[in-house]
Amino acid sequence: MIAKLKIKKGDTVLMISGKDRGKTGKVIRAFPQSGRILVEGVQIRKKHIRPRRSGEKGQVVQQPSPVAISNVKLLCPKCGKPARVGYRVEANTKHRVCKECKSVL
Ligand SMILES: [Zn+2]
Repeated sequence: MIAKLKIKKGDTVLMISGKDRGKTGKVIRAFPQSGRILVEGVQIRKKHIRPRRSGEKGQVVQQPSPVAISNVKLLCPKCGKPARVGYRVEANTKHRVCKECKSVL
């Protein structure tokens, strides 16, 4: 079963654990199968790329690696607080709402 993520691409999240605790970043990708998300500027891993031909230099690229959804909190764009997310159904449409300020996200 694929869990429905309360956090989606484009959201801004706050890291609540790990070495990047306190950092905020934008969600660039969500992986509902594993309950993980890729957050811009967070959990940066250095990846070494070997030279493919002789004479070429190896490179080090920095890439974010996925973090578990339980390590982040959604930052509400309306009230600016780390929000708990709830749902509200109106006219058969499910809206995601911030439990702090009650606005639809
Ligand atoms: Zn809010």
